[in-house]
Amino acid sequence: MLILLFAGGITAIQQSHSTEARQPATGLLVERLISAQPLTLPDARDSNLWQQTAADRLNSGFDTREYWLRIPLQQPQAGDPSVRRVLSLDYPLLDYVTFYLTAGGQLLQTTETGNNLPYQQRPLPLPVFALPIAPHSAADTLYVRVHTSSSVNLSLSLLPEAAFWQARIRPVTADAAFHAVLLCMLAYNLLIFALTRDWLFLMYSASIASISLMMAGLHGWTYAFLWPQQPALNDVMVLLSLSLSEVFTALFALWFLRLQKLRPGMYRVFMLFIIVAAMLGVLSLAAPYSVMIRLLTGLSVVMTIGALIMGAILLRQTPSRDVFLFLLAISLLILGLLLYALQTFGLLPPNLITLHGAEIGHVSQVILLALGLAERHNRERQARIAAQDVIISMQRETNAMLDQKVRERTADLERANRRLQEESTTDALTQTRNRRYFDQRFYTLYQEAYRRRQPLALLLVDIDHFKQFNDSWGHQLGDQVLQQVARALQQVIRRPADAVYRYGGEEFAVLLPDTGEEGALQVAEQLRRRVDSLRIWHEERELKLTVSVGVCALTPQQREAQQELYEATDRALYQAKELGRNRVCAASTDAGN
Ligand code: GH3
Ligand code: MG
Ligand code: MG
Repeated sequence: MLILLFAGGITAIQQSHSTEARQPATGLLVERLISAQPLTLPDARDSNLWQQTAADRLNSGFDTREYWLRIPLQQPQAGDPSVRRVLSLDYPLLDYVTFYLTAGGQLLQTTETGNNLPYQQRPLPLPVFALPIAPHSAADTLYVRVHTSSSVNLSLSLLPEAAFWQARIRPVTADAAFHAVLLCMLAYNLLIFALTRDWLFLMYSASIASISLMMAGLHGWTYAFLWPQQPALNDVMVLLSLSLSEVFTALFALWFLRLQKLRPGMYRVFMLFIIVAAMLGVLSLAAPYSVMIRLLTGLSVVMTIGALIMGAILLRQTPSRDVFLFLLAISLLILGLLLYALQTFGLLPPNLITLHGAEIGHVSQVILLALGLAERHNRERQARIAAQDVIISMQRETNAMLDQKVRERTADLERANRRLQEESTTDALTQTRNRRYFDQRFYTLYQEAYRRRQPLALLLVDIDHFKQFNDSWGHQLGDQVLQQVARALQQVIRRPADAVYRYGGEEFAVLLPDTGEEGALQVAEQLRRRVDSLRIWHEERELKLTVSVGVCALTPQQREAQQELYEATDRALYQAKELGRNRVCAASTDAGN
């Protein structure tokens, strides 16, 4: 759509421009008079300070003196007097314009108009000041008096009405295309702001809106359409919109270039500019236009050149596509404004580019900055995605580390638990299983034997005359001997399911699952023999030690009758003791069950 608008605008400009080239206005003979004092028409008419000048060389910059123009209406360049002609001053910001139509030195008609007078007072309702001259008018000379606080731009044309209207097409189309582009960009950026909530887009929208308002003001459109009853607003709004466009564009640029982070010094200078621009904006509500417009345009020039320098420095410091686009945007704006200014002061010929330099500059700036903004947004999005990836992989690593830690801790805990369990079920002196563990295992193995209908054997091993041994050789040696006996017993018991338990004092128990009486007796006999063969040396004497073993093996017939198995075994042990010790005795097999 933008391209279409552009193409349409440019075609219209070219067409009207070629028409303009054929019009005779450029050759119009004009005389000019400048006076520091206000003059009456007779004063001016009789002055001998009139100077011949060309109609398209009438720009004088800011000047608050009175400017008078004298245009002979009968000269060949003034067009055919038999048709209605229109004399037009094309600069819309002239404060006071008075047209005097005279014939033979006599005043025929006075028309007062100007940017400081009500819009309805204009002879033709246009942003420019146009005076229609009736066909066959008796008027032979037209005097124009201009008094203004803005720049004295007196671009003048005197054309047959048809040619005049045709010449109007070019600036109107150009302005329409210009504002259409800006409004599109404004709507687009506001939309993006609404979607992304990125304040940069809002700042940019404000910048575009104020540029549009400023240009519309400079070309007289705001007065024509927005406040035709309030000429007092004209000057104020031009100043205010200029100030706003400086403030918003600069704020946008600072934000866009991340100047605060990259160049804090330059950032402070620009913030100062912004504050000054804002203060000048406020001052414009009261201070005289001629002063404020000078200050604001001066500041504008300083800020634009400042932005150019800032962009160039940043591009060297951190070359990136968005900074490059920024720099290009500012350069094109400056170029456009420069071409326009050089044309206005007659240093460049008026053509498509120089006449619309300001608009072309602003449009290029707006579009390139939008591109830069998109570019920046894109880069930030990619950076965000990359950062998220890093965070995700970091999280993954952390989780893996935590998992590993948890696994290690769990293993440690399990090991500690096993150790505790072992410690709590192991006898500290002999390192065999203790009585508590015996009770658990005896119960469990008895239940298993009952369920599987398998025999279970219990052996009770008691050291013979151990009290005497202790009394003779001391408790300490007794302890050592207990350890030796325990080791000897454990060496005999090798099947994984079998185990030795310290039942109490000098008495050990052995549980042999799935073992009948025959097997149990064999094991018992091995145990007895093994202890019997122990050699205990004390003070160079060999000491002897024996054990008596009670054995009982049975296949449980009742579920909870392990106590009876124990008692039967204990009786067998007692019997072994009775029969003289150092022997194995089996309980009668029907015992307990
Ligand atoms: P027997 O069994 O042959 O009838 O005679 P005994 O002397 O072994 O008799 P009893 O079972 O009544 O004596 C057990 C003795 O074992 C008592 C105590 O002096 C000794 N004893 C028990 N526990 C320990 C121990 O942990 N260390 C030592 N050194 N001696 C113990
Ligand atoms: Mg005993
Ligand atoms: Mg004993």
